[in-house]
Amino acid sequence: MTIPTSPFTDEHQQLRASVRRFVEGELAPHADEWEADGWFADWVFPRLGELGYLGLSMPTEYGGQGADYWATVVFGEEIVRCRSGSLPMAVAAHTDMALPPVLKFGTEEQKQAYLVPALRGERIACIGITEPEAGSNVAGVRTSARRDGRDWIINGSKVFITNGVRGSFVTMVVRTAPPSQTPDGRPDPWSGISLFLVDTDLPGFEVAQKLDKVGMRASDTALLHLTDVRVPAEALLGIEGQGFKQIMWELQGERLIASIQSVAAAQLTFERSLAYAQEREAFGRPIARFQVQKHRLVDMATEVEACRRLLYDCVDKWNRGEYATTEIAMCKLACAQMAFRVADEAMQLHGGYGYSREFPVERSWRDARLMRIGGGTDEVQREIISKLMGL
Ligand SMILES: Cc1cc2nc3c(=O)[nH]c(=O)nc-3n(C[C@H](O)[C@H](O)[C@H](O)COP(=O)(O)OP(=O)(O)OC[C@H]3O[C@@H](n4cnc5c(N)ncnc54)[C@H](O)[C@@H]3O)c2cc1C
Repeated sequence: MTIPTSPFTDEHQQLRASVRRFVEGELAPHADEWEADGWFADWVFPRLGELGYLGLSMPTEYGGQGADYWATVVFGEEIVRCRSGSLPMAVAAHTDMALPPVLKFGTEEQKQAYLVPALRGERIACIGITEPEAGSNVAGVRTSARRDGRDWIINGSKVFITNGVRGSFVTMVVRTAPPSQTPDGRPDPWSGISLFLVDTDLPGFEVAQKLDKVGMRASDTALLHLTDVRVPAEALLGIEGQGFKQIMWELQGERLIASIQSVAAAQLTFERSLAYAQEREAFGRPIARFQVQKHRLVDMATEVEACRRLLYDCVDKWNRGEYATTEIAMCKLACAQMAFRVADEAMQLHGGYGYSREFPVERSWRDARLMRIGGGTDEVQREIISKLMGL
């Protein structure tokens, strides 16, 4: 199916105008302070909840806005204008990574206890996949849960968890049984994994460290330790033993939102670079008049546009309920690489000022670098694509 030239309706455009007003008026003025503090203000999540922005594409019965996925695209494109990559990433970890599995796999009780307050911004969600010994290899998770009567006892560690310091609960990948055997007698590493909703205030749950990072500095990223954390049977999310399949579904949405933010950040970086090139003079003329800089700007704009089209094609499929794993992996790979290339070219175009803390380029460059790592590295996307291509 060919997507229309603009997939956005008048309603989407009104939403875009409202989000932009909010982002530029209420978030952007604090970006520098939050970056320096290594923490964005606690009022942000409840304020986003109050405005209805945490559940744009979630059903109204749980406090969402009931809009289609293009509304999520609009929000993702606009929130990057807050002059920080951290805050959009942290919000996306909540809205587009930790919460969709609660909606898709959760019981009615779980939706009431977790989804409803999370959409109001009262409870903050984290997604807990990565461990000190298992990142790219999700099937290698060692955090385990064993039964004790009706309860489960969880032990293990999770690392690089976005919102991990401020979070109220974690949608967590946990091993509940050793791998079973495949029909040809080999261990099936994807079996025996389950998802849990784990409250962060339970005894034995410890935020062991707030991690220091190159970029995304206003977002809290944590190392979490779980020592004999007792959760009730009701904490199991979805079907026991089906967690690998469930988290692979989650990762499709995670890669899409990462792609949305990558393209939007690159678009903004391009716009800033164009304005700077027209203003900054060298050898008696604006640097935009040098052919090499014109070509640099043209390449940046072309790359952003190409990725946007790939992204919108994936969004269209996702919005219609298609499970386009290959295209989404290609999109994540292309958009992440493009976002960092554009940020790097922007730094070059800005010269010394690009490397200075006074201009936003250096933050965009640091923040963009994460996109090639988080949500599955470039190499992991290539592995997925090559497998699905039968290579
Ligand atoms: C700021 C930040 C926020 C994050 N937020 C979250 C979060 O909220 N929740 C969460 O669960 N995780 C989060 N992560 C973790 C992130 O998803 C992982 O860092 C990422 O998946 C890579 O895992 P790893 O760091 O263990 O690297 P490793 O898996 O150890 O990989 C190291 C290198 O080996 C390569 N490699 C691995 N396997 C293969 C292979 N089969 N073929 C070729 N190369 C391979 C990788 O591409 C990489 O280059 C976050 C990370 C950061 C930095």
